[in-house]
Amino acid sequence: MSLENLYREVILDHYRHPRRRGTLEGDGVTVVDLKNPSCGDHVTLYVRQEGDRLAEVRFKGEGCSISMSSASMMSSQVEGLTTEEAAGLVAVFLRLVQGEAIGEAWEEKLGDAVALRGVSQFPVRVKCATLAWKALEQALARGSGVRPSR
Ligand code: ZN
Repeated sequence: MSLENLYREVILDHYRHPRRRGTLEGDGVTVVDLKNPSCGDHVTLYVRQEGDRLAEVRFKGEGCSISMSSASMMSSQVEGLTTEEAAGLVAVFLRLVQGEAIGEAWEEKLGDAVALRGVSQFPVRVKCATLAWKALEQALARGSGVRPSR
């Protein structure tokens, strides 16, 4: 199987069987709602922080296969990370979809999301791929300093 076909399979698998799909509520939960008007994608991201750790990440939404699989990949990849690690991953993903080489160590941390590197060939789809990651970026900015009440 060519790398391109493998990537396509990974993307379709996340689209058909989304990981971390759902909603969260309660203390320490940040909700971010983002749209990509150029394609009609819509993602609502739910992040529950415990201290500076992303204890749970869920999303709901609708849109093209790129936007939905990217949300699934992002949510499963950043859950359990610290906010700093997650912010680093967002920055690296944004470079990946611009066609930049990010190195093997980062590719490993991005996991399945590496399959989206091909969108760099299609500038219009970059916004689809980055929607969920931009939502996470906003959640991190908004959620900083928030401590769950005990
Ligand atoms: Zn889209």
